Amino acid sequence: MKAEIITIGTELLLGQIVDTNSQWIAKELARYGINLYYKATIGDNKERMIETLSNGLKRSDLIITTGGLGPTQDDITREVVAEVLDLELVKSQEALAQVKSYFKQADRPMSDNNLRQAYLPQGAKIIKNNQGTAPGILVVQDNKVIVSLPGVPLEMKAMMKESILPYLKEKFLDDERIYSKVIKTCGIGESSLETKIADILREQENPTIAPLASQGEVKLRLTAKANTKQAAKELIRHEEQKLQGRIGEYIYGYDDDTLEKVVADLLWDKDLTVAVAESCTGGLVGHRLTNVPGSSAYFERGVVSYSNQAKQELLNVKKTTLQEVGAVSQKVAQEMALGVKNLAKTDIGLATTGIAGPSGGTEEKPVGLVYMALAINDDVKSYQFKFNGGRYRVKYLTAQTILNLLRL
Ligand code: ATP
Ligand code: MG
Repeated sequence: MKAEIITIGTELLLGQIVDTNSQWIAKELARYGINLYYKATIGDNKERMIETLSNGLKRSDLIITTGGLGPTQDDITREVVAEVLDLELVKSQEALAQVKSYFKQADRPMSDNNLRQAYLPQGAKIIKNNQGTAPGILVVQDNKVIVSLPGVPLEMKAMMKESILPYLKEKFLDDERIYSKVIKTCGIGESSLETKIADILREQENPTIAPLASQGEVKLRLTAKANTKQAAKELIRHEEQKLQGRIGEYIYGYDDDTLEKVVADLLWDKDLTVAVAESCTGGLVGHRLTNVPGSSAYFERGVVSYSNQAKQELLNVKKTTLQEVGAVSQKVAQEMALGVKNLAKTDIGLATTGIAGPSGGTEEKPVGLVYMALAINDDVKSYQFKFNGGRYRVKYLTAQTILNLLRL
């Protein structure tokens, strides 16, 4: 089962709008375990549309197009689909009724142009559009499925959800049940992670494993198909065990888990309290820890101590330390973590200090250099990191990393 998406619209090629449709559709297909093999974008040009669609038909079992179903002369998807499939365009009473009823409902006059939207390739199934005028079309020919939807994302998404995805599930997934699970990791980059599980990725079949990197974390989506949901779950569980053996220490959660929620649960379970001293993260660590409902049970305070003076006044960092090694240093991170822990009388004190950039770096202490410390009871551990990227990314990665350290 090979799927292909074709997005149509000259404005997509001109860079005037970003093609979010194919991204959204791709994700939905992945959720259903349908393999997407190709994506194409073409302008509102008949010749090239015919060429692209014909190529698609040779290599794919399912083609989904978006755009070009409107009422104007440049909206020619209907004509192209009919021509490529060698079908006649015929007036459909059902489609006409839908277009008319949309205008009636919206209390707008219908123009003659809209009549074009009632012409569909012979035998096409009409996909109801509850949000707009253009009905979608679905044609099955030689066991291949061609779906054309409007370009407007809101309309396209509603039609996918209401009609197309249920149809595809029925047609292609037979009795198979699909189950998927996302494994979330932190503290390892995408390529290192993939190297650690290279053979598992290479041999993947059922479940499939799709790595997905985002800021500060890498996810693995496992999707299994089987005759029953239980059997699919079992396939996932088996694969997960293999992964756990290789990358277990980096796995912080599953599906909708967030790092802060996982950390919060740990603190809650162990009955530990925490206070945070932040320099370069400017409150982001405290923000994330307090995003979790019920955080007052473990979060005592957060101090944003940006200046040297604040570090001395609010956290008892020694003036001599600041003079000797500077604010961005292992020693200051340690003193900050201990200082906030002692003042707040918590079990744990966290600290961040670094250079978020883009300016302010030196050869010795470049942009992206960050020190973190974790004071737990009388023990203080400190860490040095060097992050790449812009200011927000450095702040975000710092917060992400210290939350992950707290988890470990
Ligand atoms: P309409 O009835 O609005 O003319 P249509 O099917 O002809 O519908 P288009 O004219 O191609 O669709 O696109 C309508 C609008 O939808 C575009 O102006 C754009 O804002 C949005 N759109 C189209 N294609 C995409 C896409 N691939 N990704 C995101 N937005 C899109
Ligand atoms: Mg249009």
